[in-house]
Amino acid sequence: MEVPLLDLKAQYATLRDEIRPAIDEVLDSQQCIGGPKVTELEKAVAAYSKCKFAIGASSGTDAILNALMSLDIGPGDEVITTPYTFFATAGCIARTGATPVFVDIDPKTYNINPKLIPAAITDKTKAIIPVHLYGQMADMDPILAAACDRQIAVVEDAAQSIGSEYRGKKAGSMGTCGCFSFFPSKNLGGVGDGGMIVSNDAAFAERCTIMRNHGSKPKYFHKYIGGNFRLDPIQAAALIVKLKYLPEWHEGRRANAAYYDRKFEGVDGIVTPYIEPWNYTIYNQYVIRVPNRDRVMAHLKEKKIGCEVYYPLPLHVQECFAYLGYREGSMPEAEKAAKQTVALPIYPELTDEMKDYVAASVIEAL
Ligand SMILES: *Cc1c(COP(=O)(O)O)cnc(C)c1O
Repeated sequence: MEVPLLDLKAQYATLRDEIRPAIDEVLDSQQCIGGPKVTELEKAVAAYSKCKFAIGASSGTDAILNALMSLDIGPGDEVITTPYTFFATAGCIARTGATPVFVDIDPKTYNINPKLIPAAITDKTKAIIPVHLYGQMADMDPILAAACDRQIAVVEDAAQSIGSEYRGKKAGSMGTCGCFSFFPSKNLGGVGDGGMIVSNDAAFAERCTIMRNHGSKPKYFHKYIGGNFRLDPIQAAALIVKLKYLPEWHEGRRANAAYYDRKFEGVDGIVTPYIEPWNYTIYNQYVIRVPNRDRVMAHLKEKKIGCEVYYPLPLHVQECFAYLGYREGSMPEAEKAAKQTVALPIYPELTDEMKDYVAASVIEAL
């Protein structure tokens, strides 16, 4: 048997007859920038996320960059985030000229540890970017409380968590804004790059809308130094089709996770994902912790089972961030997680036979 980490062909096979005509509609109209498909998707994602506004973006990265630029973050400012995330989170902070300030993670959820945030706040702190990693939202109440005291913006990096919930509230709806990614491996993936900002703040949403089009309003009159952060209508057309199925795909992933959890119950050495009781997670990844991670991965590869490390080197020790002055040992929990965790196949189309094979192979390797 072969089990890839993700099988997008299995999903596409069921959607082909809906996606192709939707993309043809865009091609036939030759409205290849903006237009009704982008607006329709923005409305649908806003409604799904229980937010008033949504602004399409060219990628999840550009959604974050646009949000930070629209918050007027730049040189001299500090932005707090986690070192255990995809590079884009901190990359965007640095690209505005601001300084990323890393705060270590909670070893149970792998999300930023809110208890450590107050000590990292200074007079220069302009924003906090909690990342909802693997599909589970960060502990938002204490984060918002810390931010609220000092009027600090909260930008939710919800790239991996569209549709997840914290105490009944949707990802992206709790902070100043939320940023989604439609990278193909996310739960809602496009047929290329795409992203979106959601917000309940009308003035901020208006600024993001202007910023994504070179900061111009009206055309050729530039209010801000913005960029080209626009979502393509071809992406929007495919995403409108896929959004309808998102809740059932989430449920498929959750059922697969529960299946693995049962298989791994009581097996010495495996730490299965810990989900806070108040969270609804969408399992963009199912990540386990094992003591002999590299040996487990070698065994899975031998068995033709896809697996991946998210992420092998925390951001505070990346070469490009050496100037920030962190060292190995500065963020012990993130460093430990980077050495011990591995993601297993969790996509909704997995069969029971595939899951049995994956689970048995992991246990064998241990
Ligand atoms: C995927 C991802 C991004 C970036 O999204 P792109 O669409 O690939 O630019 C940002 N942050 C996190 C946590 C991600 O997982």
